Amino acid sequence: MKDDQVNNTNEMPEPDNNAPKSGISRRKALKYIGYGTGGILVAGTAGFYGYRKSFQISSAEAAQVRKAKIVVAGGSIGGLTVAARILRAVPGADITIIEPKTIHHYQPGYTLVGAGVYDRNDVIYDQESLFIPGTKWVKDYVEAFEPEKNRVLTRNGEYVTYDYLIVGLGVETNLDSIENLRDALQTDYVGNIYDLESAEKFRKLAHNFEGGKAIFNFPPGYVKCGGAPQKITWLSEDLWRSQGKRDNVDIHFYTDRHTLFPTVPKVDAAVKPLIEARGIHNHYNHVLRAIDTSTRTAIIEQRMEDGSVRELREHYDLLHPMPRFRTPKPLREGPLTREGIGGQLSVDRHTLQQTQYANIFGVGDNAATGAAKTAATIRKQAPVVAGNIIDMVLGYEPSNKYDGTSGCPLLTRYGRCMMFEFDFEGNLINEWLYRPTQETRTWWNFKVHGLKRLYRHVMMNGYV
Ligand SMILES: Cc1cc2nc3c(=O)[nH]c(=O)nc-3n(C[C@H](O)[C@H](O)[C@H](O)COP(=O)(O)OP(=O)(O)OC[C@H]3O[C@@H](n4cnc5c(N)ncnc54)[C@H](O)[C@@H]3O)c2cc1C
Repeated sequence: MKDDQVNNTNEMPEPDNNAPKSGISRRKALKYIGYGTGGILVAGTAGFYGYRKSFQISSAEAAQVRKAKIVVAGGSIGGLTVAARILRAVPGADITIIEPKTIHHYQPGYTLVGAGVYDRNDVIYDQESLFIPGTKWVKDYVEAFEPEKNRVLTRNGEYVTYDYLIVGLGVETNLDSIENLRDALQTDYVGNIYDLESAEKFRKLAHNFEGGKAIFNFPPGYVKCGGAPQKITWLSEDLWRSQGKRDNVDIHFYTDRHTLFPTVPKVDAAVKPLIEARGIHNHYNHVLRAIDTSTRTAIIEQRMEDGSVRELREHYDLLHPMPRFRTPKPLREGPLTREGIGGQLSVDRHTLQQTQYANIFGVGDNAATGAAKTAATIRKQAPVVAGNIIDMVLGYEPSNKYDGTSGCPLLTRYGRCMMFEFDFEGNLINEWLYRPTQETRTWWNFKVHGLKRLYRHVMMNGYV
């Protein structure tokens, strides 16, 4: 298929659906609609009441909060959602955001770009359009944190002082963690979905792939959206099946982990047989160490049960390499991290307060909470951070607690998704709502059409 023929709808390919059709009577249908409408009204009213109540703060308290200088390092979904949430509670609060980029990327859409469902215009926003009016913007990088002096040094040499600081710098791919990855990404056989240009390239490679060995991997350490490497593997398999090329493609997924989705055992148990039945070869306890572009070889290390390491050399015709992640330099080499957490921001996992400096809080991917690194996590963290900063300004201890909730839309094939929420321990939450172990079209449609709106219009406007 030529690139300009890439299907840009969610209809490709038509998924298997052998389920017997069952009808219900008109009377029953009306009854269910009645129940549904009633339920939505009750939930909506309760939600709105709770939401208004959570914002209640007296005008004297609001005036006090307005005197505090609040600085946010990093103006993406984490930083912007906290800022917006504070501004909803206290219009006119003094908030400065330090963010160097003028174009914002909706990263959860990269997987759909790689799959040919979205194009680049679906995932980019003008950064300025995302700020709530009244927010101040320092268009620069944080160069260094100076928490003893309550200030941040920017790359242009400016000091930005604060009373309260929120750190939301996210995590970045470490391209040096796989030997020769930078060169490999320039070749015609290698691409991944972890930046926009590469996701566009991967879409072309996958759609034009005529067959051979396709290799995907999952790296060690913390990973931004731990479901993404699996999703792109499974969508690619489905694509090749729909194109009639499946018999020509040998698909291998090498993961550092001991099973496909160890963080949520119930989902792992449900999804593994489905994927294995599709003939994808999963290899556990394997790490992609290096790439030899001259012979198109992936050099992979296998951790054996006795602790030894065996080296494998696998030829590839298409490679989707995933490097490790790390936090940006001012964080990983600065005073806000500690030993043993891979350069992440050291926080209390419930209050999200920095462990050494009480006037600093963390949100999103850069915070060492142990929770999944997803925008879904931020939806639950942002109100906690906003509430705790307001508590502190008013002289209270932080009273809001993050419970570890995160979520994941696992795109198992085109038109099908398993949606679930889980806690710190990997227990599923709200199973009645998600039916998390089933692949459904409803949740696929929600991922493709709903989540972006939730991200842009609900979260970034502070309605969390
Ligand atoms: C391929 C892919 C698929 C994903 N799928 C999903 C999904 O399906 N569902 C989901 O919920 N999440 C998903 N995510 C994860 C989601 O995108 C991230 O969890 C989210 O973007 C994290 O937000 P953040 O604000 O913590 O960090 P980021 O969004 O990474 O933003 C960090 C910000 O900090 C800025 N910054 C960096 N360094 C500096 C500095 N020195 N000074 C100042 N600013 C700096 C950056 O410019 C950036 O704006 C996916 C991510 C990827 C890449």
